[in-house]
Parts: sequence; structure tokens; C-alpha cells
Amino acid sequence: MPGGAPFRSVCFMTQTTQNSAPRPLPEDWERVLAVVAHPDDLEFGASSAIHRWTAQGKDVVELLVTKGEAGIDSLDPGACASLRMAEQRASAAAVGAATVEFLDFPDGTLEYGLPLRRALAGAIRRHRPDVVVSINFREYFDGGGGFNHADHRVLGPALLDAVRDAANRWVFIEQLVEGQEPWSGVRFAAFGASPSATHFVELDEDDLAAGIASLDAHEVYLANLDGFDQKTFLREAAVRAGERAGVPLATLFEVFDT
Ligand SMILES: [Zn+2]
Repeated sequence: MPGGAPFRSVCFMTQTTQNSAPRPLPEDWERVLAVVAHPDDLEFGASSAIHRWTAQGKDVVELLVTKGEAGIDSLDPGACASLRMAEQRASAAAVGAATVEFLDFPDGTLEYGLPLRRALAGAIRRHRPDVVVSINFREYFDGGGGFNHADHRVLGPALLDAVRDAANRWVFIEQLVEGQEPWSGVRFAAFGASPSATHFVELDEDDLAAGIASLDAHEVYLANLDGFDQKTFLREAAVRAGERAGVPLATLFEVFDT
């Protein structure tokens, strides 16, 4: 693609300094690439922010690294993958995300490595986002809960590395031969549901309602989760996040400047 951003060597990333009160997430940008391991990952908070952004006219692409085929015990992976891809497309539509793409990495056994970094860097070079969004890759989620999923813990560092890779024309050079250009335009990466949140996105009732609808779209998946109350989870989380941010409703992100 002609007219790519000039190459610049990026040798460090800065984690935005944590303090007790999260700061507003900057919104002076146009394009976001939301990258998560599984269908449903974005819908535990981040999708409400996606609705706010699409309502502002921003361009949102959702990229699923797996098809979620290992997510439902009673369904074999072939049937499960097509079901969960359909649920994700409905979920994205509920928050106005026009594009949903799927990579084909294995659900449940995602590995950090060059194949994953290459695929993510390729997606960043193809979509040329200003911002990337994902979910928590720390060992625990905000508020505790069980040990974070292995795929989530793998994806976060790989995504941060891929942001750097995408900017470097000498990394994954075969993609440039194929016609892509380096992309160094990613300003920051924001990870939802992190225990180390640094920033917030304020939500209004429409954003929250759309976020709840996007979670509800994972109908069969949620029906197979024991003891999860999807009707109250997102509102309670948005109220708690709002109390920390000093607004009625919010969702929180851990931000890395890139
Ligand atoms: Zn997940």
C-alpha cells in the first residue's frame, strides 16, 4: 500500500503511570483494531466503549485470534467454531463494529511465538489503526477471580510486540514483499478488565445497553456458563468503574503508550 507511515525505530514502550484515579482515555483518533483471543472476550466491558466510539464515527475492526472452538464442553469444535463466529458477528453488530475477522489459531492452546506475532503484525499493517484494544493479560482480573486464561496471558504480550514489529520494515519482511507497508501509527494499546487500570471511558446508558446486548449475543456460550448472571454483571461493573473514575458509568483500561 503506497503512502505508508515513515519507518521509525521503536525500542521501548512506556506503561502509563498508574495512580489511584484513572484518567480519561484519549479519543482524538479515528481507527481502532480490537484484538482478542476468543469470541466473548470484548463483551465483558470493552464492547460498551466500542459502542461509544462507533457512535462518534470511529472505525472499529474486531479481530478474533481463535474461533472459540474449545469454549463449549457439549459441542465439538467444528460445530462450536461456526456457532461462536456467528455469535461474535451478532455481538459486533450490536455495538456498531462493521468488520469482524478471524484468524485460525487454536483455542485453548495459543502459544506466544513468531507465528502469532507475524499474524498480528500483518493485521496491524493491513488495518493501520491509531489504537489497539484488547483484554487483560495479567495473571488475575480486576476484582480477583480465577487465574487468567492461558490464551489471554499469551495474547497481550504478543500484541504489544506485534505493534512494534508492524512498525519495523525489517521484521516480517515478507509482508512488505507482498505489498504491505510498515505501520507505526499505533499511539497506544488499551487492555480492558486489568487489575492495573490507568484510564477510563465514560459510558452513557445507550453505550451500556449496547454492551449488554453484545454480551447477550453470545447466547449459547453464556447458557453453558454455570453461575454467571449476565443481566447484572455489566451494569454493576460499569457502576464500580464509574465510582473510581468519578462519573456515573465507565469501563476501565490499562494503557501502554507505544
Ligand atoms: Zn477469552
